[in-house]
Amino acid sequence: MLDDIRDEMNTGVGVSSLFNRPRVLVVDDEPLILEGLTRLMAARNYEAITANGGREALIAIGKQQFDIVLLDLNMPDLGGAEVLRFMMDREVDTPVIVVSGDSTIDGAIRALRGGATDFIRKPYEPEELLRRIDNTLAKRRLEKENNLILQRLQQSEKWHRFLVNSSPDLIYTLDEEGRFTFINDRVESLLGYPKDELIGQHFTYLIYEEDIARAEHIFNERRSSERCARNIELRLKCNPGQRRPRVMNGRYKTVEVSATGMYESTENRFEKRFMGSYGVVKDVSDRKQAEETVHYQTYHDLLTGLPNRALLRDHLGLSLAQAKRTKQPMAVMILDLDHFKIINDSLGHGCGDEMLINVATRLRQCLREGDTLARLGGDEFAVLLPGLFSRKDVEQIGRKIIHSLSKPMQIKGHDVYVSVSIGATVAPEDGDMVDTLIRHSEIAMYQAKAQGRSRLQFWQPGMQAPYSERIQMEADLRRALARNEFMLFYQPLVDIATGAVKGFEALLRWWHPEKGLLSPAEFIPIAEETGVIVPIGEWVLREASAQLADWRKARLPDVRMSVNISARQLENPDFVESVMRSVQIHALDCNCVELEITESLLMRDLESNAIKLGRLAASGVMLAIDDFGTGYSSFKYLSKFPIHTLKIDQSFVKDLRHNGNASIVNAIVGMGRGLNLNVVAEGVETPDQLDVLRGLHCGEMQGYLFSPPISAHDATRLLQRNIHMSQAGLMAQAS
Ligand code: C2E
Ligand code: MG
Ligand code: MG
Repeated sequence: MLDDIRDEMNTGVGVSSLFNRPRVLVVDDEPLILEGLTRLMAARNYEAITANGGREALIAIGKQQFDIVLLDLNMPDLGGAEVLRFMMDREVDTPVIVVSGDSTIDGAIRALRGGATDFIRKPYEPEELLRRIDNTLAKRRLEKENNLILQRLQQSEKWHRFLVNSSPDLIYTLDEEGRFTFINDRVESLLGYPKDELIGQHFTYLIYEEDIARAEHIFNERRSSERCARNIELRLKCNPGQRRPRVMNGRYKTVEVSATGMYESTENRFEKRFMGSYGVVKDVSDRKQAEETVHYQTYHDLLTGLPNRALLRDHLGLSLAQAKRTKQPMAVMILDLDHFKIINDSLGHGCGDEMLINVATRLRQCLREGDTLARLGGDEFAVLLPGLFSRKDVEQIGRKIIHSLSKPMQIKGHDVYVSVSIGATVAPEDGDMVDTLIRHSEIAMYQAKAQGRSRLQFWQPGMQAPYSERIQMEADLRRALARNEFMLFYQPLVDIATGAVKGFEALLRWWHPEKGLLSPAEFIPIAEETGVIVPIGEWVLREASAQLADWRKARLPDVRMSVNISARQLENPDFVESVMRSVQIHALDCNCVELEITESLLMRDLESNAIKLGRLAASGVMLAIDDFGTGYSSFKYLSKFPIHTLKIDQSFVKDLRHNGNASIVNAIVGMGRGLNLNVVAEGVETPDQLDVLRGLHCGEMQGYLFSPPISAHDATRLLQRNIHMSQAGLMAQAS
């Protein structure tokens, strides 16, 4: 398109000599006449080219352009009429003055009909001939100038039309009534309307129904003043008959409109008449869509597409206001899946996600149109039930939900069973504030779990106290990692025969922001139950490995590091990789890390544990049985595991006295020696106990007698002193 226009602009105009020295073709069969005319032309400073007869004339005309031709009619070879016809056929538009001896009026008429511009009879007055030539040339020049202007105008028009039609924006003009008088091609690709269908239509034809009032206001306001409207956001309808790709939602496009009024002067100097408007419409639906996506993500859970906590709070606020107005009760339910963590950990997160989506679908099916279902995070959902009659309605919906979820779910080939515990509040009885209702429902939900799960529990006034502390603890635990509130203490494992420190057990501590230093017994059970123990356990492994690596770098004596492992951690499918990562990241040898696992935990899932621990042992990681003697382990099962160390539970060590009952410890140490295991006595507090253990040839000891768990700093100092605590030293310390 552009090339076409450019070509046209470069051709056709003003190549002739018209504006310089006119070039005249003189045609006659009389040499004398030719000579005379040539002289005459030269006197006028015209360039004369002669043709002796019609044939020569044709050749000359074919070869070059002339500004005028002086043509004789009667020529023996080819007459002037033929020359005229030839020129007419070829569309040569050079003016021709016939100079002829034919004195009849017929001759003149014929010549003029044949295309001549003028006729002059021989013999002519030179002055008269020159005047005619000058007139013809002047007329010709004017014509050419006109043509040139017209052509330029047409080209400019074409350029503008091209620019307007290839604009990425929609460009329009409206008449004073608001009807389209022009609209560019863009409308067809943007909205799917043919241009012609819109010309003459009122602009509201294109405006999305809900925006019509606003659009009319904008256009009217601008009409009454000379202000122009800029970047007004409106929605334009898409042609319903056209299926366009990428139309935002098929029905409308969001655009920014600008409109400027056109005014015309009137006789009254101070008055102007409104004649219509013009403007540009910019498609902003992509930007709008991006904004909507962000908005959607702020208020929705991306996995299930359900409203999130923020949107739930919003809806709850509105429903509460409505409940107050209509005096009809409403209910809030908090639902938490039972043992979801186990499913997630054992089947993997992909299955867990699929299950959550399934649960969301089932829950939705149990609810009415106006109810809100939200996902609060993890396996926690919330339901808002406006417009109820009594608690019975809530109970009925609760039953429906529990029943619907009790049916097995097919997830990646597994039949998975899930149950849900529901806590419910009814407003305004149980609270009339958003936060209170959510908190009370959560408390009731924990109560439902405590009562055996898979049930609905309404909140009751006394319920708050016993459960809120635990809920708080759970919430605090979830945040503790990110807030760096955990730290490790290290308790030395000492060689009984030499007194040398052989290793340390890493023991977890929590610096609670309000409660101060907490020992594992106070939070590990909750961390286990909620599953937070998995990331915490990974942190312990990393931290302990980092500490060991520091000692190695400082060239302190080689020691091993014992780390306690919880049930949830071991069940995690990623367990082996997680241990290996923690160890390898610090380029440590695997055989300087020992995992402490209790007997009962080992026995819980024999086969799977044997595989995992076997893999770890193959890379050198050592395994200790913690609190040995308290479980029901059979030696047959224990032999399945690659064990290095037995840690005798402190309850047996406590009873050790000279001449006292040492038979259990004796048996364990004997068995350990028989199996070539390292035996550690835990909780050694007195020199007596140490004496007995030494007598029994127990390998190592751990306890307050030598050292309580100490900070990393103190443990480092202990290693630096490079203690080889002699027997004498030990005895001296004890006395
Ligand atoms: P555990 O593995 O049997 O650790 C030994 C516990 O006995 C420690 O308690 C230690 O402080 C305490 N202890 C050491 N010497 C003596 C003594 O002479 N007398 C007495 N009465 N007690 C002694 P702590 O640190 O409170 O840890 C308690 C339990 O918490 C540990 O028992 C372990 O099962 C668990 N735990 C500690 N840290 C972690 C951890 O990082 N992850 C996991 N999963 N559990 C941990
Ligand atoms: Mg331990
Ligand atoms: Mg222990």
